[in-house]
Parts: sequence; C-alpha cells; structure tokens
Amino acid sequence: MALRRVLRIDDEGDKKVLKTHCRPVKLPDRAMKQLVADMFATMHAANGVGLAAPQVGLTIQLCIVGIPAEIEEQEDGTQVEVAPAEEYVFFNPKIVKVSGEEVLREEGCLSLPGWYGEVPRYTWVTVEFQDITGKARRLRKADGLLGWVIQHEVDHLNGILFTERIRDLSTLRDANAETEPANVSA
Ligand code: ZN
Repeated sequence: MALRRVLRIDDEGDKKVLKTHCRPVKLPDRAMKQLVADMFATMHAANGVGLAAPQVGLTIQLCIVGIPAEIEEQEDGTQVEVAPAEEYVFFNPKIVKVSGEEVLREEGCLSLPGWYGEVPRYTWVTVEFQDITGKARRLRKADGLLGWVIQHEVDHLNGILFTERIRDLSTLRDANAETEPANVSA
C-alpha cells in the first residue's frame, strides 16, 4: 500500500483535474486492486470518510466510502461499538433514484482540508455500480452519512466540487485553527 497525494481545490493545476468528467472503468482491471488499497490508506491517513479517484489524480469513475464504527459511551465510561465500520467500493456509480426531500448538512472535502460549508443533499439515494470484478450491483436507499458521502463522491466523478453546491456561501468556514475536530470530510 502506498499513500497518494490528494489534489487540492485551491491549486490551479489540481483543480483542472478535479473539474474533469471522469471516464468509465472497463472491468476487470488488474491494476484496480492496488489502487483501491492505496485509496483506502490515503483516506484513512487523512481521517476522511470517502475518496474519489480524481482526488488522487486519476480521472476514472471509481470512488470509495469508509463509514467509521459507531461507538457509544456507557454510563460507567466504557465504550461499546454499536455499529461496525463499513467500507464500500463503487466503480462506474450512477445515482438512479433520490428521495423527495433534501437536508442541509455541514460538509468538508479532503481536497480543501479544514473548510466546511452547508450543502443540500437528498436524504437518501439509490446507486447502481459495478464491483471490482465488474458485477453489476445496486445499493438501495443509502441514507445518513453513507448517503451524503455517495452524493459527494459521485459529484467528484462528474467534476463537481462541494463548494459549488453551497447555496449560502456565508456558511463556508475555515476550521483549520480550531482544536476540536470538525465535521467529516470526503
Ligand atoms: Zn471531496
């Protein structure tokens, strides 16, 4: 596994790559296993919950999502895992169905570290994609954190950045100087 450099929205050369409409991946492809492993390592190193291939400089339709385990603190101070961590790999994903309503949530991007803004997202999405073997799959009504990360990553594959989705730019804030970890980034 190797860490890859994450491209930045605020770098002109990087932004050109990030604004590219990514091309589909022909599967199976023997190079993909290593790339996916590298992307997970890079995402975890940056404390992210998702990463799209263009963010590591490859303009192909591939993104990953990593939802951390849900930990609950008991009254006696011990921590209990109430939901395990989940990992997803999406090749050539397409959002085929969306909820009627939207929700505003604060969102960040690994390509603009430390910055957060309020982005409108559907409360759930159904996504069709291929797994690494090329098999067609469908994930129905993905909601919560998973739902919004999928929307953020599929945007990346279409060259759309979260900063372009913010309706009220006054919600965009720089949390780099804050000591508490802010919201999640993808
Ligand atoms: Zn992002």
